[in-house]
Amino acid sequence: MSRVDKEKSVNVQVLLRCRPFSDDELRSNAPQVVTCNDYQREVAVTQTIAGKQIDRVFTFDKVFGPTARQRDLYDQAIIPIVNEVLEGFNCTIFAYGQTGTGKTYTMEGECRRAKSGPEGQLPSDAGVIPRAVKQIFDTLERQNTEYSVKVTFLELYNEEITDLLAPEEISKVALEERQKKPLPLMEDGKGGVLVRGLEEEIVTNCSEIFSLLERGSAKRRTAETLLNKQSSRSHSLFSITIHIKEATPEGEELIKCGKLNLVDLAGSENICRSGAREGRAREAGEINKSLLTLGRVITALVEHLGHVPYRDSKLTRLLRDSLGGRTKTCIIATVSPSVHCLEETLSTLDYAHRAKSIKNRPEVNQKMMKSTLIKDLYGEIDRLKAEVYAAREKVGVYIPKDRYQMEENERKAMADQIEQMTASLETNQKQITDLQEKYDSELQHSADLSKKLEATEVNYISYL
Ligand code: ADP
Ligand code: MG
Repeated sequence: MSRVDKEKSVNVQVLLRCRPFSDDELRSNAPQVVTCNDYQREVAVTQTIAGKQIDRVFTFDKVFGPTARQRDLYDQAIIPIVNEVLEGFNCTIFAYGQTGTGKTYTMEGECRRAKSGPEGQLPSDAGVIPRAVKQIFDTLERQNTEYSVKVTFLELYNEEITDLLAPEEISKVALEERQKKPLPLMEDGKGGVLVRGLEEEIVTNCSEIFSLLERGSAKRRTAETLLNKQSSRSHSLFSITIHIKEATPEGEELIKCGKLNLVDLAGSENICRSGAREGRAREAGEINKSLLTLGRVITALVEHLGHVPYRDSKLTRLLRDSLGGRTKTCIIATVSPSVHCLEETLSTLDYAHRAKSIKNRPEVNQKMMKSTLIKDLYGEIDRLKAEVYAAREKVGVYIPKDRYQMEENERKAMADQIEQMTASLETNQKQITDLQEKYDSELQHSADLSKKLEATEVNYISYL
């Protein structure tokens, strides 16, 4: 990596939020073990080990204690991120933590109650998603320019992706088919991935977002566990893509594009504690596959291991660019103040603290010429038309399933190989640069010495 690249890299921003005591915790008089100091950006956890009280203190980029409101977190931490999306960056915000600590509350808020109030005011319970959408529309309307805002909402459950915005108007049977049908994750040929067939909903004002959230959240699969009746065992990803038209002084029309990903991860607790059994345990295992891979990816990035296992889970494939890539990333870790969650709280704090040293190299998305964008869209329409035609007329390519699987595995193995080779190429290139620098400085040193020698010889001759 050159010096210029190093200067551009920024650390992932990590925030900590501790929710207030729940009614249950208050009823059972659960002792408080987490103390937040929002101003010092510190969280202290009190443990009693062998009769001794031990405090562990963690520092984060920002800390929001139990009295912090939705609005405080948004105003202090999220507004700048959304401004960057409007400038044409891609940004991702993750909520990470044990079930019942407030991930969904932070991201969505209480969306059933959260209808837009009078004069477009948001209810105080509204979370990051509705607030971000409001900020986006408020800013775009002030700028008085042409724009479009699209959202997608997907769920990742047992390593299968489903669309939380799939339309409802299709007949019930077809709907169930479609809702259950996992969507394939494919390479987009530009180094990224795309979810084939994911519904993109155009949003034209802030109030539409509540019905979308409600529709999506209702579809999110939940299952009862001892920890939280509404406990969610799936990851959800809500994405907002904004296109804004700009005119150059030469009269050329440019399109600026920014994307905001909002990720509500599945509970990070281990399976025994949430009382999961049998089927549920397998489910938890699969959930952990994505969460575990996320952990491994973080480890590889933090410890600068050559190979980062992005490809090992769907979650890390989807969010690859947010971890060590060109996206600006923020993690909100959520914890409970109660002693009952102590073990999980410590593990969340350790995890979040480690993630602080991941570095990304945010890059603004290249602006597109309007004419190029239209050409791309025409290309996409042609491709889709061809697919519809092939499906209807059954003139596509058909190969036996096992051969397809074999070829797909080969392709994956090759992709892995390329990835590893790219990583080792980067390391080698860095070594070459270092050696070249050393060689240059040695050359300089030897030139200096030659000069000195010459001068000494002249001196010596004149002395004689
Ligand atoms: P998770 O998504 O992490 O499982 P939830 O967001 O569902 O957790 O939160 C669990 C419960 O705690 C919900 O009833 C929610 O309203 C409440 N809660 C979470 N965080 C807060 C907070 N900061 N302030 C008030 N209530 C909260
Ligand atoms: Mg939740």
